[in-house]
Amino acid sequence: MSDCLFCKIIEGEIPSSKVYEDGDLYAFRDIEPQAPVHVLIVPKKHIASLDDCKPEDGALLGRIMAKVGEIAKIAGITNGYRLVSNCGEDGFQTVEHLHFHLLGGRPMTWPPG
Ligand code: 5GP
Ligand code: ZN
Repeated sequence: MSDCLFCKIIEGEIPSSKVYEDGDLYAFRDIEPQAPVHVLIVPKKHIASLDDCKPEDGALLGRIMAKVGEIAKIAGITNGYRLVSNCGEDGFQTVEHLHFHLLGGRPMTWPPG
């Protein structure tokens, strides 16, 4: 999608700090980290949010989930992490390209604010 920030990052039109990449996904450091390690994991396919996932996206989503542990290790996380996807207004999603926040390097609080 031409006017999507994360599509531009995936295409390399906007610079980013890459952690991992394969045919399905791109993972890079968040520009405003909320934890010592804060990586964004995004599908290369433009999907606006979890609300916009279709049944045919299931295999892609499964492959992404199955890579999270490996990406956490590459990012330097050694003691657990949290994976979050904000969706819609109450979820406080600000970029409309599906992404998963991988947060680690400190204990997380529960419930989230
Ligand atoms: P959301 O609020 O949609 O769940 O998450 C969007 C995330 O993208 C935020 O954590 C924000 O810091 C991050 N972000 C926004 N613009 C950029 C950018 O240009 N580069 C990087 N690396 N992260 C960004
Ligand atoms: Zn996009």
